[in-house]
Amino acid sequence: MRLNDFQISENFNLREFQCPCCHAVMLHGRLLAALQRLRDMLSRPVIITSGYRCAAHNKAVGGVKNSLHMRGLAADIASDGAMMESLRNLARVAGFSRVITYPARSFAHLEISDD
Ligand SMILES: [Zn+2]
Ligand SMILES: [Zn+2]
Repeated sequence: MRLNDFQISENFNLREFQCPCCHAVMLHGRLLAALQRLRDMLSRPVIITSGYRCAAHNKAVGGVKNSLHMRGLAADIASDGAMMESLRNLARVAGFSRVITYPARSFAHLEISDD
């Protein structure tokens, strides 16, 4: 069995959230719950393009200095441009506190508050 390779909810595996450079992972339970709710509402796969990031990886990908990716409170998911508006609305309902869409780069950043 590979490191972090286990199912943590109906549709997500912990491995999907690990840092690509060092395989470290932190994932807040409320972030996972919101992602699973979004997945249930979409009824289609939600592809995590960036989950946990260690400080070095966050810097390497140009993340903001205090990125919530470094605390397991944010995830980026793939989305095509046409889906962005409905994704934004569904993400709010799913419980994310902040949604930033990047139509030109085909992904959306989703985060939960840390309180
Ligand atoms: Zn790393
Ligand atoms: Zn992000």
